Amino acid sequence: MLSLFKRKDPICGMKEEKGKGIEKHGKWFCCQNCLKEYEKGSKKQK
Ligand SMILES: [Zn+2]
Repeated sequence: MLSLFKRKDPICGMKEEKGKGIEKHGKWFCCQNCLKEYEKGSKKQK
């Protein structure tokens, strides 16, 4: 089962803070930089 609370930034590992950061791709990112890194990484991955 997925836990829908207590997510964390997959890039830097920061815990989700309500009212902060960016939600995208069903994940939470602390800042634009981490979101960019994630999008870069997922494109490259395979
Ligand atoms: Zn981050």
